[in-house]
Amino acid sequence: MNRNPAFLRTRQRLAGLYAGTMGLILLVFGLGFYRAIAHDQWQSLNRKLVTIAGTLHDGIEPALAEVGQVEPVVEHFLPGVVCVADKSCETAIAGEQRHIVGMVQQENYYVRFIDQTGKLLATVGQVPDYEQNAYSPSSEQPQTRIDTDGIAYREITLFLKTNDQQPWGYIQVGRSLTEYETVLHHLRWQLMLGLPTVMVLVLAASWWLSNLAMAPAYRGYLQIQQFTADAAHELRTPLTVIRSTIDFILGEPQLTEVDSRQTLKIIERQNNRLAHLVQDLLLLSRLDLEPIPLQQPCSLATIATDLIEEFSAMAIAAHLTLLAEIPPNDPFEILGNEEQLYRLLANLIANAIQYTPVGGIITLTLRRQSREILVEVADTGVGIPLADQKYIFDRFYRVHADRAIHTGGTGLGLAIAQAIARAHQGNIHLISRPNQGSTFTLHLPLPRRKTILENHNT
Ligand code: ADP
Repeated sequence: MNRNPAFLRTRQRLAGLYAGTMGLILLVFGLGFYRAIAHDQWQSLNRKLVTIAGTLHDGIEPALAEVGQVEPVVEHFLPGVVCVADKSCETAIAGEQRHIVGMVQQENYYVRFIDQTGKLLATVGQVPDYEQNAYSPSSEQPQTRIDTDGIAYREITLFLKTNDQQPWGYIQVGRSLTEYETVLHHLRWQLMLGLPTVMVLVLAASWWLSNLAMAPAYRGYLQIQQFTADAAHELRTPLTVIRSTIDFILGEPQLTEVDSRQTLKIIERQNNRLAHLVQDLLLLSRLDLEPIPLQQPCSLATIATDLIEEFSAMAIAAHLTLLAEIPPNDPFEILGNEEQLYRLLANLIANAIQYTPVGGIITLTLRRQSREILVEVADTGVGIPLADQKYIFDRFYRVHADRAIHTGGTGLGLAIAQAIARAHQGNIHLISRPNQGSTFTLHLPLPRRKTILENHNT
């Protein structure tokens, strides 16, 4: 296929389209995946922040007795980690609040307590260094803040009251966004490296798939090419003979009547051959294009008997015995096209006569087998070599080309027979041994009895 420029171009275009479509799908999927992960991480980060801030707020607030007083309430909730402003920090973790402390420490959260004026009262963890009071106490939603080093933090500020409802100040809980950004950074890299790698695989797969997709079309194209070349070749021989015969007549000023008749006979023979060929080609193309109507009840027994009668003279002339094995009282009826079935069997019998030497026997047998009718045409003729058997039903294929040309064969007889069998949902099988003979068996499926009766009545 790659040697044919038109097919190669189409294959490249098809592979490009496959790869482009797949690439686009992958890109959209990759972007969607990235956005989903980023969204998920962001939501989970905010949720955790809100939960921790809420837990600390709800635990601390009921215990706050005095405005501006941090100790001992905050130390009770965050023992061992809190740094009270202007005092040294505690470091030992103890007591029943270990769980909250552990969570705050593990995930690198920081906590700040500030009074209403923004004055820092106490801190927990690594508190970022950004401008004091640059918070928005009006919102209780997490906000993003950037410290003096340009590091982003997510922070939530909650209002605190004393247990007698006096405004106490604020608790601010936050964490750095570095970890979140690192996760997304890694994901971006994985996608950026992964997508091109997958694209290379997609491209290779597309190239292979385009070959698979185009293979039937290419086979069809080769068959048509072969068929056209064969048809042209078949037409050329009689045309050349006719042309040279005409040239001979034109070059001969005094042609006797005997010579004229002889040359005209040559032209007639070649003309018949051409007509035969064109007729066969037309029939084949019709069989290819339109389905045969299969409503006619046809008796295969009648067709077989007629054929035996018709070919017996030819068989006698060729010194052959033509036998029929047709069980009595069975019409072997199927639904089909009588004319075409007649043609099919005539082709098989004509071939058998043609390829069986003097003294041979040709037997036409009809029998039933499960849901089929079998019509066998067996001869004791020259047979067909095994290597040729798989091509025998191909158009213009001839094993004994010299002999066939001599007898006017076109190489289309078996192709037509097989096309008619297929149009009847049947098939022709061949068993043959060189120099022992050939058996062509036509398998035709039996119609349901009801269908035959219906068609008899119409
Ligand atoms: P043709 O018009 O040449 O007979 P067919 O399609 O009928 O074309 O047959 C194709 C070829 O198959 C023949 O040329 C011949 O070589 C071979 N063939 C067909 N029938 C027989 C047979 N009964 N015995 C041996 N060879 C056969």
